Amino acid sequence: MSPMLPQRAYLGLVLGALALLPACCATRVHAAAGVGAKTADVQTKESQSALSPRQALDRLMQGNARFCAGTSMQRDLPAQVHATAGGQFPIAAIVSCMDSRTSCELVLDQGLGDIFNVRVAGNVIDDDVLASLEYAAKVAGTRLFLVIGHSSCGAIKAAADNVTMGNVPALVARIKPALDAVPASEQPRTSKNHEFVDHVAAANVRHSMQQILEGSPVLRELADSGQILLVGGMYDVETGRVEIFDR
Ligand SMILES: [Zn+2]
Repeated sequence: MSPMLPQRAYLGLVLGALALLPACCATRVHAAAGVGAKTADVQTKESQSALSPRQALDRLMQGNARFCAGTSMQRDLPAQVHATAGGQFPIAAIVSCMDSRTSCELVLDQGLGDIFNVRVAGNVIDDDVLASLEYAAKVAGTRLFLVIGHSSCGAIKAAADNVTMGNVPALVARIKPALDAVPASEQPRTSKNHEFVDHVAAANVRHSMQQILEGSPVLRELADSGQILLVGGMYDVETGRVEIFDR
């Protein structure tokens, strides 16, 4: 927020601007960006429901293209705080890894209120993750669901090397099916083999997608009836690009 404006005056400006917008549009909260700059909107119930899951996916991929090109949208984040305080209408729910290089809001160029991001090492699925996704679908109206793994993933490397420290074995056990899914011909099957690690990571995304559908009858029914779309993909830590499977 500008230090030049008292808070009430600032809020008055924002609310006044919002009142001028058509209800069908996402709410524009940053009208004062630099000349020629694209500005970011926040999602409303109307903007969320106007997007099909495929259109939402296109929106995220456009965001990734901007991120890679260094043309991410300008966001007045304090203004987005105010604009989203009354509720959230995210266009996607994403399960991704905790890796510090893979923040989905950044790499997909999204702002506050745009996406749910469930982050856990190795983007594995457990009951808490399933509950989070069910909340997104049933309560928040989200219709696009993604699992995004990434290259050079430490959790996958830990699984490949069968790390036994602390609580890691429980995580390794969740990733084990993905290790087994990669053909035995791929050798050596350790963290030293970067190609193997990335193949396991991709298999792990597919396994997590399967776990979502098998572990949540709620999400399964929504997916089977076409009300939600579940897709997988991989983020490349060297290029910044997200590749969606089977697209
Ligand atoms: Zn990772």
